[in-house]
Amino acid sequence: MTDLKRAWLASANLPEADFPLNNLPYGVFSVEDGDLRCGVAIGDRIVDATGLEAAGLLRADPDADVLDAPYWNDFMELGPATWSAYRAALTAMLEDGADDDAQDAITTYSVKMAEATLHMPFRVAEYTDFYAGRHHATNVGTMFRGAENALPPNWLHIPIGYNGRASSVVVSGTEIRRPWGQLKSPDHDTPIFAPSRRFDIELELGAIVGTGSDGPLTVDQAFENIFGYVLLNDWSARDIQAWEYQPLGPFQAKATATTISPWIVPAEALAPFRTATPPREKPLLPHLQDTAPMLYDIELAVTLNGEQIARTNYNKMYYSAAQQLAHHSTSGCPMRTGDLLGSGTISGPEKHNRGSLLELSWGGKEPLTLNSGDTRTFIEDGDTLALHGAAKGNGFQVGFGPCTGQVVPAKDDPFSN
Ligand code: MN
Repeated sequence: MTDLKRAWLASANLPEADFPLNNLPYGVFSVEDGDLRCGVAIGDRIVDATGLEAAGLLRADPDADVLDAPYWNDFMELGPATWSAYRAALTAMLEDGADDDAQDAITTYSVKMAEATLHMPFRVAEYTDFYAGRHHATNVGTMFRGAENALPPNWLHIPIGYNGRASSVVVSGTEIRRPWGQLKSPDHDTPIFAPSRRFDIELELGAIVGTGSDGPLTVDQAFENIFGYVLLNDWSARDIQAWEYQPLGPFQAKATATTISPWIVPAEALAPFRTATPPREKPLLPHLQDTAPMLYDIELAVTLNGEQIARTNYNKMYYSAAQQLAHHSTSGCPMRTGDLLGSGTISGPEKHNRGSLLELSWGGKEPLTLNSGDTRTFIEDGDTLALHGAAKGNGFQVGFGPCTGQVVPAKDDPFSN
């Protein structure tokens, strides 16, 4: 098991800290009404990476400012060797025993996280969402099509996905307004236009493409191109989805919002937690075969108004993000810096492992009873849903920070201001 790298900042060495020296995730922050700046989380502080670069104290590129922007995309474009070198240099400034100059630089160019506002950490180029969790696909398929036809015939051969909307991706803390849409109850012949009554979450991990490509990628190349990971909640209106999804898949059901956590956990920080995909039920074609362990052991949980309603692990996925990215590129589809790939809902074999309310309440037939005595099938107005994630080391964890959204009531009339 991996050990803690000790920092001279005591708050980074606590066992429950999300941001030890092993993590160093990338975010964007502002303080009071100041500019948006690139930052790196350490303990209870944010290192002002934009400030360190401008002062010449820590530069990713000797010849160009890449962090004088409210996003990490320009840094991401520089590629894995630069990501790694930057991370090593920052680690040296923060580790126990760093010299006085390094400690002075960090003290000057850092802020308390509690006093900062966090923003989208990168510009989302495009957003694709997959359906790569076998337990989720089996559960949903059983509800929609029956146990015999639960997994579509292609499922064990390709990671299924759909093209989502980059415009809908928001950072943790953003309010989510219940959507209107076209719904059709099985009891009626004609559809209605109304606020969704079956609004739901999906517990996912988002992989962020750092290095763009222009042609088919091997699984190994795809793995190298991934910059880092965030928690991702793919808000889903199940009643809109059930009516619209055939034959081209989800559309407006998934277009209201997708929330991500504000810190990009570097792929390098997760390297000690790599784990293999489950055994293949049918062999994959050679271009998608596993070449090394490319999933991660990341413990995940969902809370509703602070109460845990599900927990699972990213190691339950059938396909890795590298396999998804490789498949995405097979047609020659250009992939760009800042492309976001949702893993698909991460469920597990047990009832408490289910990563959506659709599964937890089995299509609304088995309501959840909360500690308060209230019950839930789907989200009610005012509910706050949060995703949590951490890879556990020896006496420390690499955490993702919050991925939270409160659902507010639908507009009275979506066509009035
Ligand atoms: Mn999804």
